[in-house]
Amino acid sequence: MSRLFGTQGLRAIVNETLTPAMAYGVGLALANSLNGKGPVVTAWDTRTSNEMLNHAVSAGLMTGGCDVYYLGLVPTPLLSFAIPRLNSTAGVMVTASHNPPEFNGIKLWGKDGASYTSKPERLIEQLFAQPESKRRVSWKLFGKPLITEDFRPLYTQELLQQVDCSRIRKQRLRVVADCGGGAASVMIPRLLKQAGCQVETQFCVPDGLFQGRHPEPKEENLGKLKDQVVKTGADVGMAWDGDADRVVFIDHKGRFIMGDRSFALAAYYRLRDSPVKHKKIVTQVATSDVIRDVAETIDAEVVLTKVGEPNIVAKMKEVDAQIGGEENGGVIYNGWSWTREGLLTTLTILGLLAHEEASLNELDKRFPSYSQVKTGLPCTDDEKAILLERVAEQIPTDIKCDKLDGIKLRYSDGWVLLRPSGTEPKFRIFAEAKTHARAEELAKQGLRYLQKTREEIKI
Ligand code: MG
Repeated sequence: MSRLFGTQGLRAIVNETLTPAMAYGVGLALANSLNGKGPVVTAWDTRTSNEMLNHAVSAGLMTGGCDVYYLGLVPTPLLSFAIPRLNSTAGVMVTASHNPPEFNGIKLWGKDGASYTSKPERLIEQLFAQPESKRRVSWKLFGKPLITEDFRPLYTQELLQQVDCSRIRKQRLRVVADCGGGAASVMIPRLLKQAGCQVETQFCVPDGLFQGRHPEPKEENLGKLKDQVVKTGADVGMAWDGDADRVVFIDHKGRFIMGDRSFALAAYYRLRDSPVKHKKIVTQVATSDVIRDVAETIDAEVVLTKVGEPNIVAKMKEVDAQIGGEENGGVIYNGWSWTREGLLTTLTILGLLAHEEASLNELDKRFPSYSQVKTGLPCTDDEKAILLERVAEQIPTDIKCDKLDGIKLRYSDGWVLLRPSGTEPKFRIFAEAKTHARAEELAKQGLRYLQKTREEIKI
């Protein structure tokens, strides 16, 4: 049976691999998995194929018996927030997140607002592969579109209650918001003004062609934002990915703040004064040690898990962690919704700046800095599996070796993670240390272990 869902859900180039027929099939399979019991909430980002694909998914859902809500063009976290509040059985987001404009994707959500893990995805794939004609309901049982009001006012109102806006207003924080033409465009400028900021916008008009900048808010795509922050003397710059579940920050000097550092600052602010007895932060194996440094200062425990949002959410539920996050700037807040929240993270960081009356640069510097080196070894999928199995044989026994996801070697002054890529033909090597030279050395050491393993396999 062919797989529909990869490590990032279903994502592909539209009308080449991802066709309306496929979207219809996914909608029908989802309805079948729910036994025709809805309603299912749907939404989409700004991509040119958004409504076309949503119509197709919705047709599948309705022919399988599910009623459908349309939230329209909204950020992914709003969909997650809305699912339990609309007493729905599932959700569908038509988005390709940070992929280039020719891509789109379909991401599925459970009734609690958490994205599907691989287990329910496998069920959808099985149903998808079965004859379609046997899975449609009789004409009397079709689902129907349900009317829902614009969900943005309620979501905005509740978001604003999460921070002390009077403090932000008092500080007269000046921000440059770069929505990149993505889903943040429809909410962010207004939300920031309501939060008390003075706002300048960049690419905050929905644009499915992403002509302003690439939907991935990586440092190399944010040159214009950095320039604008410095030129206008703003306090902070912000940029969201295509579906606004992630946000990254630029400080007033035009310096890009790594996603794991903004996640660490968000955790610091949310948990510092929390009355919770056992403070817990869930993150994945590739996150910077800065999260451990922050956790130490606020007496929190860091629980590590495998890479990927569904794994982090599952672990947060299991250990009852208050916050979870990733190195790319995605942060999840227990008690709010079970997904990465680019809008709440925006307000959280603004709340921190206003509360501390300090710049982002100063706040970031309160915690140790690290250098990171990312590289990789090209290899086939077959090689990946053998390398993962055998590479540990090369590693001296006195080095601490963690096999939670890939292999993470921990040294007294840094670490290196060797992990097969889920999307590319390579074994990823990711090293972190206090100095760049040491991080490079660790990355090279990791590469040597992989190369030696590969030579031995070939012999
Ligand atoms: Mg995203």
